[in-house]
Amino acid sequence: MRQVTEAELKQFYPDFVPWQLGRVQIIRKKDHHIPEDALTVTRRTPFGNPFYMTDPKDPECHEIVVREFRKWIAKPEQAWRVTQFLNLVRHSEFHHLACNCKTSEICHADVWIEIWMKQGV
Ligand SMILES: [Zn+2]
Repeated sequence: MRQVTEAELKQFYPDFVPWQLGRVQIIRKKDHHIPEDALTVTRRTPFGNPFYMTDPKDPECHEIVVREFRKWIAKPEQAWRVTQFLNLVRHSEFHHLACNCKTSEICHADVWIEIWMKQGV
């Protein structure tokens, strides 16, 4: 599947302005719920980061796997994920992306947010 170009997006959605996506952390506690407007982008989903950190406590490891994700998601064979993600967000009420990372940490969800913000402008 090929990637939808910006020109095509503008053609089909001329008035479309992407809304701001934010990040939330999934905390596995009894009384903690992620917001209903959050799309989960963990490894169990098609939007997860397939790269593993050697040391999740090391900020540099976060940067490395996010860098790997950024390269990987830009590959033509991953274009279907980008298309699926953009369609899902465009036609939904999602305003947050939920991952296990702390929001203070760099996360592959930041790359998804960049992709989202870039495609409509
Ligand atoms: Zn994350």
